[in-house]
Parts: sequence; C-alpha cells; structure tokens
Amino acid sequence: MVRKSIAVRVTKDALRNIRKGHPWVFENSIVSMSQEGEPGDIAVIFDERKRFAAVGLLDPFSMIKIKILQHGKPANINEEWFKEKINDALMMRKDLVPPQTDGYRLIYGENDGFPGLIVDIYGDSVVIKIYSLCWIDYLEMLSGLFAEILNIKRIVLRMSRQVKRAEFLQEFKDGMVIYGQELNGPVVFCENGIYFYSDLQRGQKTGFFLDQRDNRSRVEKLAQGKNVLNVFSYSGGFSLYAARGGAESVTSIDISPYAVEAIAQNINLNSENEKISKCRYINLTGDAFETMDTLIKNREKFELVIIDPPSFANSQKHRDKALNAYAKLIRSGLKLVAKNGILVMASCSSRITAEEFADLIVKTAKKENCKLELFEMTGHAFDHPVKIPEAKYLKCAYCKIL
Ligand code: SAH
Repeated sequence: MVRKSIAVRVTKDALRNIRKGHPWVFENSIVSMSQEGEPGDIAVIFDERKRFAAVGLLDPFSMIKIKILQHGKPANINEEWFKEKINDALMMRKDLVPPQTDGYRLIYGENDGFPGLIVDIYGDSVVIKIYSLCWIDYLEMLSGLFAEILNIKRIVLRMSRQVKRAEFLQEFKDGMVIYGQELNGPVVFCENGIYFYSDLQRGQKTGFFLDQRDNRSRVEKLAQGKNVLNVFSYSGGFSLYAARGGAESVTSIDISPYAVEAIAQNINLNSENEKISKCRYINLTGDAFETMDTLIKNREKFELVIIDPPSFANSQKHRDKALNAYAKLIRSGLKLVAKNGILVMASCSSRITAEEFADLIVKTAKKENCKLELFEMTGHAFDHPVKIPEAKYLKCAYCKIL
C-alpha cells in the first residue's frame, strides 16, 4: 500500500511540542501543506530549514489533523514498521500480565505509538478500536499482522462515536468481525482467575473495563466479611472480586439493564468458586444518584463502598459540572459507608487531575463533618502505560472513614 506523502510546515510552538515528543498536531498549528490529502496519507513535518521533524498520519476530518507516528528520524511507514511497534507493545507486556489472565490491553493509542488506535485482547479474540479515520486504510494490513503475531480466532472492529458518524464509511461498521470466525454473542475471558463475559461487538469500551484490573484486585483484599456496595457496576467486575475476597453481600447498581443482566451471568460463570457462589447479591438497575438516595433514606450502611462513575468531563467546559457530580457522589458515598468502613472513589475524567480529585474528596468530607483518611491513590493497570499527560485519566482513591 503506497500512500501519498505530504510535506507539512507547522508553527514554532507546535514544532517545539513535536520536538518534545508530543504526538498531536492541531488544525491551527499547520502553516502550510504541499498538497491536500485524505485520511491516512503520510504527513512529513519539516522545520523552517527543511530539516525533518516528524512523520505521521493525516486526518483532515479531526481537530487533531496529524497523528505523529515517529519523531526525530525519518521512517518508512510500512508493514515492517508497524510489525516492530506491535512486537514492542507485546514485549513490554509479556511478563507483566498476571497469571490466569487472558484479557489485557495490547496497544494503548499514542502511548504505544499508535495515536487514536487501541487493541484489547480477550482470550483468542482481538478488538481494534479506532478513534480516527486515518486508520481505516491500514486495518487490513494491521489485521494481517495481528493474525500472524498472535494466536487468535478473530478480530472485531469498534469505532469511536466520531468515526461512526463518518457517512462515507460504507464498508466498515462498528462491531463487525474484520478477520476470522464470526461471533454469536459475548466471549468468555479470564482475569486473575475470574471468568467474565465480554460483548466485544456491543459492550461499553471494547466490552470490559480492563483499566480497573488492579483496583479490582485491591478491592478483593479489602472485602473479607463486609457488606459491599458497588455503584456504576457495569457487568460486576468489582462485585465478583469482592465476593471472592469473602464479602458477605454485594449490592451492585447500574443504569444499563444489559450490564445488570451480565452481572448475574458472570456470577453463574464462576459458580465453581465457593466464595463467589456463596455471596449474597442484590443487583439494582437504576440511576446511581437516585438509587443511592433511596438507600440513604432506608438507612442502609455498607462497610465497603466502591463508586466508579463514567467520565463526566470530556471537555474542559464540562469540568465544573463534573466536579459537582463527583462531590454529590462523594457525599452520598460518605452517608452510606459504615463507621470504620472504606470508600473507594474512582474518576476516569482526564480533565481532572489526581491532586484535584483528592482535594475534592478531602474537602467534601470536611464539609460533611466526616473524618476521612485518604490512604492510597492509584491509577490504571500496567497495560495502559502513560507517555503523554492526556493519557493519564484513571484515578482511584481509597479512603478510610474514621
Ligand atoms: N466499575 C465498572 C466500570 C464502570 S463504567 C467495572 O469495573 O467494570 C460506568 C458505568 O456506569 C457503566 O456501566 C454505565 O452503564 C453506568 N452508568 C452511566 N450513567 C449511570 C447512572 N446515571 N446511573 C447508574 N449507572 C450509570
């Protein structure tokens, strides 16, 4: 596949960022282009003295017009180049995937050298999720490489909302199998010895929230003998870990009926595990804010409360709204935690830093006259490496209520 190569000049500021290794070039940073191009064309960025600065893929339909693949020295962006990147990503993870785990992220976008593309592995199935049209013409080649390098049965394609919207994309559809055997329902994979269904074609993200793996393990260690509340539970990831950790009961809340149905299915899938089958479960479908209010009214208390909401702030202008929503959840969480209990509060909004989040928790507790000790703050699991600040989105605060 030979792509058009376009020479690009950018502003001084943008060049400085590129030299520091940043992978994005925004529309307003582009000074000139030798010709117009299509998504996926090769953009070669030069400085004012015509020296090479970086090479990337063009995406004329995005605010980030160029996604940089390589900085500093020129490269032929071909199959060999991509193969090396995939192998690098694999090597980085090879020894780190925990035992009895066959679900993990192989490629985390720009952090693994693939801006706007992620690859998640679920046993012998692979999901490629694209956030930019620039990857469309590379899908066939990449599928061939994954099939060659990994021992897999199929590859499923998922698309971001923005990519789905692109009308001229006739041949690709969200959820379609682009390599190997068709799918007829969710696949089963294993995480730290617990089995989960993952709906690769219709599920949220790529079917499961792989980023929370280590936090789920931490929750397992905190759950012995406790009544646990898991708010925004999705398919019950934290719920099953808490049960295996010896929880007395687990109450899960999610607004999606599909997610709540999946909790019961995941419990059944692990019926051979004594602790998982022995635990008492209450699975509630509903709005988390309202359901928590009802639980508070009923004077329910839990020794361990986990709150893992969706991202409330996708853009800078939604930040204040997000902070208010978090504050409301923290207040409700504090009312539901028993004395000496633990509140685990997560945020996946990249616009809110770990420091801001910690500050919000501590201040909200103070306002509520609640003595709280934030004893640990964690992020995502190792297979989501962070090379650029924008990629650092997950924060998880562990708080003891005194
Ligand atoms: N903790 C989960 C991931 C949570 S993702 C895990 O470890 O797998 C966020 C979840 O919040 C999604 O499942 C989504 O369906 C749910 N959700 C979104 N808005 C909601 C609301 N208002 N009330 C309850 N659940 C909501």
